[in-house]
Amino acid sequence: MSLPLENKIAVVTGASRGIGRAVALELARRGAAVVVNYHQNAGAANEVVSAIQATGGRAITVRADVGDFAQAEALIQAALDTFGQIDILVNNAGTTRDQLLMLMKEEEWDEVLRTNLKSVFNCCKAAARPMVRRRQGRIINITSVSGIAGQAGQTNYAASKAGIIGFTRSLAKELGPRNITVNCVAPGFIMTDLTADLPEELKQKGIEATPLRRWGKPEEVAYAVAFLASDEAAFITGATLTVDGGLVMGG
Ligand code: NAP
Repeated sequence: MSLPLENKIAVVTGASRGIGRAVALELARRGAAVVVNYHQNAGAANEVVSAIQATGGRAITVRADVGDFAQAEALIQAALDTFGQIDILVNNAGTTRDQLLMLMKEEEWDEVLRTNLKSVFNCCKAAARPMVRRRQGRIINITSVSGIAGQAGQTNYAASKAGIIGFTRSLAKELGPRNITVNCVAPGFIMTDLTADLPEELKQKGIEATPLRRWGKPEEVAYAVAFLASDEAAFITGATLTVDGGLVMGG
């Protein structure tokens, strides 16, 4: 029996850990060959590739700081050189430098904006042409409920994530006529390295503010990404799908 994403090639940025790792594994489970991008953690990225290969899938690691335009271009080129095409681009790489605005250093603003938002511009710009040439493609950008609702201590992060939503809607309009969809997934509180060090009190508050009364798992975000990458999602573009246990509704 053929798998739903068989013969598809996916690039997942920041796929060595957390949500990106879960996305890479889920896309591979559905048959896609996966380019596992990472920045620092080669060991973790290699483990993701080994896990995919162990189940008969195809995957490679590519080191690239996706906040750097030339490195993002090289990442996309490596995918094309290895697999010949790109069908799915998941812009997941992200970071935080939480701080109240009055204490935030310029470097903390710049680092978050380049890693979270400029990276999306960089990778989309590099991948758009090969997708347009084939008149097909799926771009899925990982934003956050912080970019929708705002969060004290996260002016940099929330601005980068809100920026991704505006970017996504604009690119969806540009690339829709070429049969390329561009969507966002907005996770709520998900247990990963990014959130592991949050103060216990904040973690508890997160649970209380979430109608489903728990944190989400990386796999639960990956299922939403895999859906948006699937044939079933062909008529969805410019959308932001929240995967947050109901958090962003407030109330
Ligand atoms: P994580 O566990 O900290 O993992 C971050 C990943 O991004 C790692 O694979 C890391 O690679 C990679 N990365 C960081 N900077 C990079 C760069 N400049 N170039 C390439 N890769 C880079 O984070 P996560 O929680 O899985 O978050 C993934 C995405 O989901 C982020 O965009 C985040 O903002 C978003 N998100 C997360 C939550 C949550 O609660 N966890 C909620 C909403 C949105 P290395 O391993 O090599 O360092």
